[in-house]
Amino acid sequence: MFAALTDRFSEAFRRLSGRGTITETNVREVMEEVRTALLEADVHQEVVNTLCEEILQDALGTAVIRSLKPAAEMIGIVHKRLVEVMGAPSPGISLVEPGPTVVMMCGLQGSGKTTTCGKLAAYLRKRGQSVLVCAADLQRPAAVEQLRIVVESVAQDGTGSGRVAFHGEPDKCAEHGRATGAAVGVCQRALRRARDERFDVLIIDTAGRLHIDEPLMGELAAIDRAVEPHQILLVVDAMSGQDAVASASSFHARLAVDGVILTKFDSDTRGGAALSVRRITGAPIKFVGVGERSTALEEFHPERIAGRILGMGDVVSLAEKAHEAVDEAEAARMAEKMAQGKLSLDDLVSQMRMLRKLGPIKQLLGMLPGVGSALKGLEFDETQLDRLQGIVHSMTPSERTNVSSLDKSRIRRVAAGSGVPTADVTKLTRQFESMQKLGMQLGGMGALGRAGAMREMARSGPGGLSSKGSSRTESIKAKFKKRR
Ligand code: GDP
Repeated sequence: MFAALTDRFSEAFRRLSGRGTITETNVREVMEEVRTALLEADVHQEVVNTLCEEILQDALGTAVIRSLKPAAEMIGIVHKRLVEVMGAPSPGISLVEPGPTVVMMCGLQGSGKTTTCGKLAAYLRKRGQSVLVCAADLQRPAAVEQLRIVVESVAQDGTGSGRVAFHGEPDKCAEHGRATGAAVGVCQRALRRARDERFDVLIIDTAGRLHIDEPLMGELAAIDRAVEPHQILLVVDAMSGQDAVASASSFHARLAVDGVILTKFDSDTRGGAALSVRRITGAPIKFVGVGERSTALEEFHPERIAGRILGMGDVVSLAEKAHEAVDEAEAARMAEKMAQGKLSLDDLVSQMRMLRKLGPIKQLLGMLPGVGSALKGLEFDETQLDRLQGIVHSMTPSERTNVSSLDKSRIRRVAAGSGVPTADVTKLTRQFESMQKLGMQLGGMGALGRAGAMREMARSGPGGLSSKGSSRTESIKAKFKKRR
């Protein structure tokens, strides 16, 4: 996301750095590049025009021309205006007391609405809310079934204290074609159930179509009148660029949408929708979908997104992700074990599992300042953890705690058991041993010494199996692990 825009912006700003004096013409030239970059990113024409005019006025009216650091000054102005164009932050869901808070989800077919209902249920559950998800898309029996599977997997696998349950009436699908009120009836019964069973939130997944048409809008309006949702959220696919913005406008005109969820934000989209939706529709973006898993939903914070666009990274979101995924008591226990040289290979695997819960490595690294563009074209092999786990599982429990007991014949056995070359097993054991030694040294060191040792550790890394790119990935994993 935004990679091309980030590149174009940094090229444009580079024109301003290292110059003695900056003229108005220089600023106008840079603004032309900014304009082209925004248009290429598929930002709505109207938004581009106003945004560029605002930036230009700010730049000419303030200190960019006189500044000793015109590039930095310009980046500051662009950042401020990008934040404004995305609107005041409005992340998350406001809950009503007494519940249930009713959230109606709408969007075109394929936008990611069903997946997002599951993600939202997981998000709320993690925050201690109990959630009932209602299947009100009766056009396709398969849609009811798909939602049931999604919701039940969140109910079984999700973390958090809240309950998650599914309300579906697949037998009503046949009625749908004949009676217009079938979907309304399902929603009303789901609301009654949510009240009776004391759910905090009711999420209603409404019908999706390939295009906006009158029957769809009529049905949504009827549901809106019948259940009076507290929030109507529109799911739009960030990949569809201007179409996403156009469909958001049409939905908003008819339904007064409270917020937008932009899905597929992880894909290689140009980013235009994120920058256009608020100004064109007036509705704030509340969340972004960043993957297919039920945990891949992030609150939308304009400040942080503007930072990502300008290559400043988004360390705050990264830290939040880490906080959510990492069990702190477990991390402290591991650190203690490591300092005593008692870390086992099982511990290493469980640490890496924890890290992986944060999301794909490339996505995480892209949140570090300046790292995003450096990663362009680099592929990370996310299957490394499975290979590592395969090797560890082929060892006996005592071998996993006492790695030095792995002599040549044991290494051959483990390699055969896990289907990897013996060199991979040897490399893993050696690196794990040196990691253990370093861990013990760190345990007895002051902060400065610890920093130096950590750098060393990052260089050597605990994995580095034979596949391409692995040592880099693993050394980064080691860094993260040690920082906790
Ligand atoms: P619906 O027809 O609107 O209910 O769409 P679905 O929920 O079935 O999603 C359509 C496709 O988009 C599925 O393959 C989803 O896995 C995928 N999808 C949904 N949200 C995201 C996202 O945030 N990122 C990515 N990469 N894929 C997504």
